[in-house]
Amino acid sequence: EPATLDVTGLSITYGAGPQGLKAVRDVSFRIAPGEAYGLIGESGSGKSTIAYAVLRHVPAGTVSGRILLNGQDVMAMSPQTLAGIRGRVVSMIYQDPMSALNPAIRVGEQIAEVIRQHRRGDRASAWARSVALLGQVQLPLPAEIAHRYPHQLSGGQQQRVVIAMALACDPELLVMDEPTTGLDVTTEAVILDLINDLRHALGVAVLFISHNMGVVAQVCDRVGVLYAGQLVEEGSTAQVLRAPRHPYTIGLMNALPTIDRAADRLVDIPGRLPDLRVVPPGCVFAPRCAAVQDICHAVMPTLEPVGTGHDSRCHERDRLERLLPAVAPATA
Ligand code: ATP
Ligand code: MG
Repeated sequence: EPATLDVTGLSITYGAGPQGLKAVRDVSFRIAPGEAYGLIGESGSGKSTIAYAVLRHVPAGTVSGRILLNGQDVMAMSPQTLAGIRGRVVSMIYQDPMSALNPAIRVGEQIAEVIRQHRRGDRASAWARSVALLGQVQLPLPAEIAHRYPHQLSGGQQQRVVIAMALACDPELLVMDEPTTGLDVTTEAVILDLINDLRHALGVAVLFISHNMGVVAQVCDRVGVLYAGQLVEEGSTAQVLRAPRHPYTIGLMNALPTIDRAADRLVDIPGRLPDLRVVPPGCVFAPRCAAVQDICHAVMPTLEPVGTGHDSRCHERDRLERLLPAVAPATA
């Protein structure tokens, strides 16, 4: 089947030699046209590194593996081809969205500028489309908002402007790196609703990055769980949320607030990510794993099917129910 994004065996190492930091290791995943795929993992797991690699915003020589956008090899593209693709085929919304806005330029003008970079057409038509986009992201009085500077908008309104800018050239894939960072919970919920509405209305595929399983569940069709640069579990959102088959995913689920467990009493997974310069043999999660066995320290598990379209990288994937305490149901 066609894939909007097809990543195979992606590895990214920062720095040369044996001391290089192995930020991403042998990651493969596909995103179908119009599909929303979530990448989830704690800080330092390699999420942003993968997002940057999709548009080749990573240092040359650090990447191995293959990234295909609509079948085109990103690593082999000429700078001109790449420039044409950025914004038009793929748009990025970065972890710090305000960095996408120029404080000195009216927001309508900033969006119009993006439109003019990729399309012919006069200033008036670019401005008109800019106002239309501000309406599409449900900003009230878009014609008035277009004249404002970023600091004259709330955080949630600024994020809508950033999304409007990302949509300016009708991309086929939106890469969103923690798009609700810095927003309060209420505003976050509204922005997630907007992302859902837009992706269904426009049929745009989404690579959605988050460290919060509850947030991913609201937006994504499928989820890949990243730990120390490796995918440790992948499946439909329902499979991964309702029947997680990796101890790390189960730990992430336990970290979610439930009806019985308030948000201020989250269960953390003890320990921290390993040093990514010296990755030990065996399972990289073993030092933190509540279900660890002898084999886990010796042999690195491979990603194996545990159901249709559901994979887990765990030697004990068929015995977890006996080895781990019950998984709390997710209500987020
Ligand atoms: P967060 O949730 O905090 O945003 P992340 O999952 O996005 O984390 P990355 O930013 O991809 O993680 O970082 C993965 C690893 O690579 C980290 O150990 C980080 O320190 C390292 N790293 C990221 N960028 C660089 C860089 N330009 N040079 C060297 N190391 C880097
Ligand atoms: Mg990041």
